[in-house]
Amino acid sequence: MKYYQFIGDKSDNLPIGKIICLARNYKKHAEEMNVIPSNTPVFFLKPSSSIIYSGDTIRIPKQSKSLHHEVEMGVVIGKDGKNIDINKAYDYIWGYNVCLDITARDIQSHSKRHGLPWTIAKGFDTFAPISPVIQKAAIKNPHNIDISLKVNNAIKQRSNTNKMIWTIPEIISYISDVMTLECGDLIMTGTPEGIGQIKKEDILYASLGSYCSLKVDVI
Ligand code: MG
Repeated sequence: MKYYQFIGDKSDNLPIGKIICLARNYKKHAEEMNVIPSNTPVFFLKPSSSIIYSGDTIRIPKQSKSLHHEVEMGVVIGKDGKNIDINKAYDYIWGYNVCLDITARDIQSHSKRHGLPWTIAKGFDTFAPISPVIQKAAIKNPHNIDISLKVNNAIKQRSNTNKMIWTIPEIISYISDVMTLECGDLIMTGTPEGIGQIKKEDILYASLGSYCSLKVDVI
């Protein structure tokens, strides 16, 4: 079992539950993937066994020749909820972090062509690097934060959470109509444009405003 790390003095152990990832939640990313943003949120699951932390290393699996970075804002759920009302959604949030949704793009493309699930492309060990979590109260407006990713000091992804197609309350409400959100679950809210390949010895630095940051390397 994996546990969250926190910014500040929260000492509780909070196990990481299921990881729910949004797809196509930024218009320019949908464009670069040649997909049309759908009229309902699209999401998939990533296993919590794929979690690593700042300072850790992404491992390129032997099954893939093309890993891509996707920087995303994470939302950590602090309370169980089902059929959550959009207007109550913030009550269910513990805090936020910055995450990487590492993707074996070659495997994902094959899966898309053959109508297969994305589980393998998204689920290898080390495919979910996450930063420590900042508590909700520290961020007044989660929909106006710069989000960025540098690879070897070159900016590759830079956007703002105000460009999300589906807002955090809409996402929480929509997911909870399908599956109960449980304390400790993590929602990765989708990546902005600028995704690209990572390779051995790259160093990735992700940040969510000045609140959260994450540094990992690749072997
Ligand atoms: Mg993603």
